[in-house]
Order: sequence, then C-alpha cells, then structure tokens
Amino acid sequence: MSFSYASSLYCPKCTASHPLNKPINRCTCGSPLLVQYSLKELKSRLNREDLKERPPTLWRYHELLPLQKEENIISLGEGMTPLLEMKKTQHELGISRLFMKDEGLAPTGSFKARGAAVGISRAKELGIKEIAMPTNGNAGASWSLYAAKASIKSHIVMPAGSPPITRREVTIAGSDLHLVDGLISDAGKIIARLAEKYGWFDVSTLKEPYRIEGKKTMGFEIAEQMKWSLPDVIVYPTGGGVGLIGIYKAFRELIELGWINKEDMPRLVAVQAEECAPIVKAFEEKKRVSTFWPDSKTAAFGINVPKAIGDFLVLEAIYRTNGMAISVSDERLLAEQRRIARQEGIFVCPEGAAAFAAVRELRNQGWIRPDHTVVCLNTGMGIKYSEIIEVEATLLQPDDT
Ligand SMILES: *Cc1c(COP(=O)(O)O)cnc(C)c1O
Ligand SMILES: [Zn+2]
Repeated sequence: MSFSYASSLYCPKCTASHPLNKPINRCTCGSPLLVQYSLKELKSRLNREDLKERPPTLWRYHELLPLQKEENIISLGEGMTPLLEMKKTQHELGISRLFMKDEGLAPTGSFKARGAAVGISRAKELGIKEIAMPTNGNAGASWSLYAAKASIKSHIVMPAGSPPITRREVTIAGSDLHLVDGLISDAGKIIARLAEKYGWFDVSTLKEPYRIEGKKTMGFEIAEQMKWSLPDVIVYPTGGGVGLIGIYKAFRELIELGWINKEDMPRLVAVQAEECAPIVKAFEEKKRVSTFWPDSKTAAFGINVPKAIGDFLVLEAIYRTNGMAISVSDERLLAEQRRIARQEGIFVCPEGAAAFAAVRELRNQGWIRPDHTVVCLNTGMGIKYSEIIEVEATLLQPDDT
C-alpha cells in the first residue's frame, strides 16, 4: 500500500503528461497542471470506511494527495473543519437544509492553510529552499507560517490595501514582505520577475500544481461529513477559483473510486463581488474564459481577483455541474455578515458572507428550491478583517450609573 497514489501531472489544455519527481510550475503550453492518481488501483485497496479510524486532519486522505512520503508532512493541524447546520437561517430562507463549512477554524484562520499544508510539504519533499508568491493576504499568511515550520525562505508581495492582520502574520513568520501600490495581478507580475531573477520557486495560484490538491480536501470532507450523500448545491466565494476547481476534482475522484454516485454531483456556484466579477460576466456571456476586470474593488479582499489563470477550469466546473455564477454587492454581503453573526453566532469573513448573500438571492429567484440541501463555504474568520466593523458602544465613566 503506497502512501500516495499520485502517478503523474497532466495538462487539462494540451493533455501533455509530466513527471512528479521534480519541481514544476506550468505546462510548456502555459496551462496549469493537475495531479493524476491511479484510482483503479486504489479502488481495489481502499474503502471509504477505512477512513473512519484516521486522525482528523486532511492527511487522512493521503492516498489522494501528492505527497510521496509521510515523513515529509508539514502540519499545523489543518483539515476536518466543522460542518454546521444553520437552523435559523435555513428556516428564514425556506431551504430544507443549509450548512456552513467553517474554514475560519483552520490554522491561520482561513482555508488557505489547506493549500499551504500540501504545497509546502511537497516543496520540502522536492528540495525547494525559497518560494515566492503574490497574495491578497490570507495565502501569504498561511504559506509564510507553513514555510517557517518547513525552514523554507518565503518572499511575499501583497497589495498595500490588503487586510492589515495578514501583513502582520507574514512579518511575524519572518518572511520577506513587500507591499505593492496595486492589485494582486500587479503583485503577480512583480513576483514572476523576481522569481526568475533570483531563482525562487513561484508558488502563485495554479502556477504550481499542489495547492489545489490541498484545497480539494474540502470536497472530501463535505462528502465524508455528509455520510457520502452529497448536497444539491455548493456555494463558494470565488477569487482565483482554486477551491471550486479543487472541490470539483475531489468529487470526480470519489466518483471514480465508487465512493459517491455520479448522479449526485452537486451544482457548483461561484460567487463574486459586484465590482470584481469576471467569472460571472463570462458565465453570463456563456464564454469559456474570462477577461480582465478593470478597477476591481471589494471589501471581500480574498475574492478581489480581476483575472484568474484557472478561469477556464472554474467555468468548466460550473457548466459541467449545471451550476451558476452570481455576484453580490458589498452592501449586501456586509449586511449578511452581520445577520449571520446575530442569527448563528459566527463571525464569518466578508467572502463567506458573500456566499450566504448569494444563497439568499438564488432562493429568491427560485434557483435554489425549498427541498434543496445547500453547503456554503465560509472561507475564513471574520476576526481577520475586524477593522471593517464599526464599533457601536457608548463610553461610560467609572462612576456613571
Ligand atoms: C483566497 C480566498 C478566497 C478565494 O479563494 P480562491 O480559491 O482563490 O477562489 C475566498 N475567501 C477567502 C477568505 C480567501 O482568503
Ligand atoms: Zn499543456
């Protein structure tokens, strides 16, 4: 029994195959690469029930992850986040069941920990000493801290407008941090130049193949936590879209393993902010790729991505699952964030709130039906962006009565 059943890397664009045994960024054709597994072989050796005895981290799915050797795991306890039923909200919206997969409880406070855990562990396994990445904040925070644990040097460039706490996380981890007076797309261009010049390994979203494998485990967990009967709809706040592509990849692998039914594939919904909605625009125009969204802005910083390198994969996942792409205004998502805290006791991040605002809208339109089971991803904790909340309080003097 091997630790991993990863067999090669394949290109979803030109179908070229690449070996797993050395550091690689993208395919020679420029497309992101995805990990291929020997699923037929694994199918005869592993049952879904075998997972039950394993520790509650994402490494419980190690056969379906790319890391070759267990001793190379760099872990901060990531994975197996709670799947919470939102009783008041489902009642209010008139949906049979509404769940929150709460990624705010992941190490470093966002689901970026999943990508970092697998990405950094693989980087370590492949002997990489220095990494570089552009980030809107949370990925930089996660990768910096995991890199610190792995003794890998990290170089981070993020927009000057990104959430202040994420800069502090990068700083305390000892990373080399630069702020750019621009967007993540500008940070990405700077990283590409610096990585080339200094020989750092560029771990930008989908410019290395392993981050998505970590994010894929959200799909495995949803399936396992729902006892292998999948929800009708999964709603995901989409920036680069790696989480959505990952969840789709997870379900396709589980179908091949015979652990879930093909007919049960959930409809995947990509949610974006009204002022940064390139995927939604492409979806509405029935396009296969998106175009750069100029002057993008939103309070939901993690989804402020004007052009995603994996946009064609996000759109394919939406089309293939009869899904949907929808945008919500900042005003609505911020109102939703407040409502969730007051109704459900959870301080979600603005990106997570956008997903719930989208559920509200899709329920109103009738696209989500009363008999549906819906899972929303809350991708991070609200505490990381607490400066956007105005404090409502009166100031008392010690002897006030
Ligand atoms: C990065 C991020 C997202 C978007 O994730 P993608 O997989 O790149 O689409 C959503 N929410 C939060 C909190 C994030 O940090
Ligand atoms: Zn290719």
